[in-house]
Order: sequence, then C-alpha cells, then structure tokens
Amino acid sequence: MININAKILDGKAIAAERRQTVKQQIQARLAQGLRPPGLAVILVGDDSASQVYVRHKRHACAEVGMISKSFNLPNNTSQEKLLALLEQLNEDNDIDGILVQLPLPAPIDSESIIERIVPHKDVDGFHPHNMGRLAVRMPLLRPCTPKGVMTLLAHTGIDLKGLDAVIIGESNIVGRPMALELLATYCTITVCHHHTQNIMAKIQNADIVIAAVGKAGLIPGDWIKPGAIVIDVGINRLSDGRLVGDVDFATASQRASWITPVPGGVGPMTVASLLENTLQATELSMPSEKKSDF
Ligand code: NAD
Repeated sequence: MININAKILDGKAIAAERRQTVKQQIQARLAQGLRPPGLAVILVGDDSASQVYVRHKRHACAEVGMISKSFNLPNNTSQEKLLALLEQLNEDNDIDGILVQLPLPAPIDSESIIERIVPHKDVDGFHPHNMGRLAVRMPLLRPCTPKGVMTLLAHTGIDLKGLDAVIIGESNIVGRPMALELLATYCTITVCHHHTQNIMAKIQNADIVIAAVGKAGLIPGDWIKPGAIVIDVGINRLSDGRLVGDVDFATASQRASWITPVPGGVGPMTVASLLENTLQATELSMPSEKKSDF
C-alpha cells in the first residue's frame, strides 16, 4: 500500500464544481432571454486519443447547456478546406468558440490554422494574440491546461508569490503559457526541456513542480523537495493499459505537500477551462463586457 502524505488535488471534483458554475451562468443567460453559448469542435482524421478528448469535450458542453457543433473531417482534408471552414465559423454569429483538436494530420500546418481563428473565438487560447495578451498580463482567453493548473493551485490556498517553480516541458500549449501564468503570480520560473542540463538539481530546489513532457517515470519521487506542490500534466499509457503521469506518484506523494493524480488531476481541469473560456468568449461578443482576468 502507498503511504501518501501529500494532500490530493482532486481535479475531478474541482472541475465538477467549475462545470456546475458554468451551467448556472448559462441558465442565468437563458433566463434573461440570451442564447446559449455555441462551440464548434473540429476533429480532422482518426487519431484515437483525439477522438476520446473530443468526445469528452462535446459531452461536457451538452452537460452545461452549451450548443456544440461537431465537424468530423477525413484524414485527407486539405489545408484550404479547413481554412475555408474556419472562415465560415468566424462569421457565424451562433458560434462563440472554435476548437481545432490538435495534433492535425500532416501536411496541415497547425500554426496557420490556429492563426486563422478570430482571437475572440479562440477558446483554446493558442492564437498568438491570446498568448501575447497573457505575456503582457492582459489575458482574455487563456490556454486551457495552464489555466486549469492555476485553478488547482488556487485550491491549495497557498500564496504563490516568491515561490520557485520548475516547469518541465516548453510546448506552446502547456509549458510556455504555464510559465507566463506563474510569472504573472510572481513565482520565479525555470523552464526545462530536452536540452536542459541537470534537471534533477532544479527539481530538488523547486517549491512547485509542473511536469508536462509525456514520459512515464521521468521524474522519480525522491527528486521532490519535501513540502513541494507537484502538478503532473503528463498522460502516458503503460503496456498494461494503466494511465500514469511523468512523476512517480507512489514516491512523490510521500514527500509533496499537494499532488495531482493521473488520471483525475489536470485532465478534467482542461475541459472545465474550455467551458469557462467558451462562456467568456460568448460574453466577449458583447464589446462592453470585454475585460481582463487579472
Ligand atoms: P510536447 O511533445 O509538445 O512537448 C513535450 C516537451 O517535453 C517539449 O518541450 C520537450 O522539450 C520536453 N521534453 C522532452 N523530453 C524531455 C526530457 N527528457 N527532459 C525534459 N524535457 C523533455 O507535449 P505537450 O503537448 O506539451 O504534452 C506534454 C504531456 O502533457 C503529454 O503527456 C500530453 O499527453 C499531456 N497533456 C495533458 C493535458 C491534460 O489536459 N492533462 C493537456 C495537454 C497535454
């Protein structure tokens, strides 16, 4: 049996609360005679993990009373066809948010696809406009996974100012925006990647460890500083079918003060953030309601 000293950051439960709040806000909109938020979810190809993620997102939309419009496109969809669909959705007044599930099959160029979504409908928060706004502390639509992690961190009740945070992974969708989020709260940030030397020493000094690589067992638990907060974004399927993160949970949970499980930690928060962003995008479509989160 695992001896767990850390408190568990239960993403499943916290996400359920956030979804409930979104549902109530949508009901309040409907009571005022306003229409429900509309999300377009585009899936290109037949990647099985993407199909599962998209199914969860569509189900979550329906559960809170949003309208989700599904676009399942074949693997050989051309870049031009996808861009034309985005143009159409950009103009569609019933669509508040547009989500293109990544990764896109080759040879589609993801960057130009993301850039074609109008920034106020970019509910994933990946458009350079939204990333730039986050960088200058004027966020509007924030990338969903880092936003979900910030919600989890807020749940600890710990003042993050001045803490040393180490992020492992520097992708555009997780590591980089995660660094910007934590910097905005005045953590001191170290971002590690596959060229970083001596990651162990950096993790050993960290008050907050965010693992976002996608390699099971990358971070042994005995690297964790006693009392650190550990957020494991990684999702890895082992040969026996189990899902695990990047951090060895059994040993890390004996040293950390707070830790996320995998599954049931960051994953549900990503979906909850998407719903929050879609509702926010709906409200942004009324210019007088444009405001920043910070
Ligand atoms: P990615 O492949 O785009 O990026 C991986 C990053 O890890 C890169 O920055 C790379 O430099 C770094 N890296 C690779 N090997 C390394 C090593 N040995 N040491 C240090 N850094 C190393 O992946 P991504 O899309 O950012 O996703 C990362 C993980 O998070 C995956 O497991 C993915 O499934 C998961 N993920 C989970 C959620 C969620 O909601 N829970 C959301 C997005 C991604």
